[in-house]
Amino acid sequence: QTILVTGATGFIGARLVASLTAAGHHVIALVRDPGRAAALPSPLTLVTRLDQLASDTRIDAIVNLAGEPIGNAVWTTAKRAAILQSRLTTTDAVVALIARLDHRPKVLVNGSAIGWYGLWQDQPLTETAKSHDCFSHDLCEAWEQAACRAESHGVRVALLRIGLVVGRDGGFLSRMLTPFEFGLGGPLGSGRQWMSWIERDDLIRLIAHVIATDAIAGPVNATAPLPVRNVTFTAELARCLRRPALLRVPAGLLRRIGGDFAEELLLGGQRVVPNKALSSGFVFRHQNLRSALEAIL
Ligand code: NDP
Repeated sequence: QTILVTGATGFIGARLVASLTAAGHHVIALVRDPGRAAALPSPLTLVTRLDQLASDTRIDAIVNLAGEPIGNAVWTTAKRAAILQSRLTTTDAVVALIARLDHRPKVLVNGSAIGWYGLWQDQPLTETAKSHDCFSHDLCEAWEQAACRAESHGVRVALLRIGLVVGRDGGFLSRMLTPFEFGLGGPLGSGRQWMSWIERDDLIRLIAHVIATDAIAGPVNATAPLPVRNVTFTAELARCLRRPALLRVPAGLLRRIGGDFAEELLLGGQRVVPNKALSSGFVFRHQNLRSALEAIL
């Protein structure tokens, strides 16, 4: 199959491209800077704009992941605009491409995040759960709605509500590692907030499963079946690194430094249940965090 991937140089995208290429698929990668794509495996078609693709290009599936990073800096007004606009601009270009292709792809697997649900306490959240308003929700809702416009062209749209992706060399785990390695790790605030995580290769396998399964459409929770509280995540990471994790970071300090960024990404959480993945027969290799961290670290 030929699969178009946006965000192909990213933490998830690069691994996805490697996996699809290894499985014998032809990947077309949208990248802003071909220089940054040098590490991607070949054979590969690189484009810097989607309007470079002719209307008779055959594309069987699209995975749309591109967007300004969310978790690497506090959300100033300019950062919020970049986070939203980068996703909407790319998704609009994806839908415009779909509209002019002679052969429409079967499926658009679009990024989203568990932040769509907003901030919750202990309630388990399946794909039918409601949302609470916050920046993460507004962002994901706008991104999902932009992607759903592909449905009017007869394309199946799956909205991957991705959890905290754990993998080597990148993502939120690599930002956590330095303090933990120096023995300076600890729970954030009360530590009671839920962290719905997924191991990166399981996410890549889930994307392939969603592409291949015609019955899957709409929101899909991309999280492991056993989410944990922040205090448990902290303890498991410390155990794996054989370091103490006793330094609790006060919530007030995080809020003062990080504002909504800290409130939504560090102190808030969601206890997400991957109902659609499980009921459609997807088998997670890493159901529990300990197994995932041991494989990664
Ligand atoms: P990365 O930040 O690693 O990669 C995102 C890619 O998007 C980059 O490689 C880049 O590709 C492109 N990009 C970055 N900034 C912009 C911009 N301003 N305009 C257009 N394109 C841009 O993200 P991940 O791989 O970690 O995540 C992929 C998607 O999944 C993201 O949208 C993210 O929000 C979402 N997600 C990720 C989670 C995680 O834990 N990693 C959790 C939940 C959701 P290039 O430079 O080649 O153009």
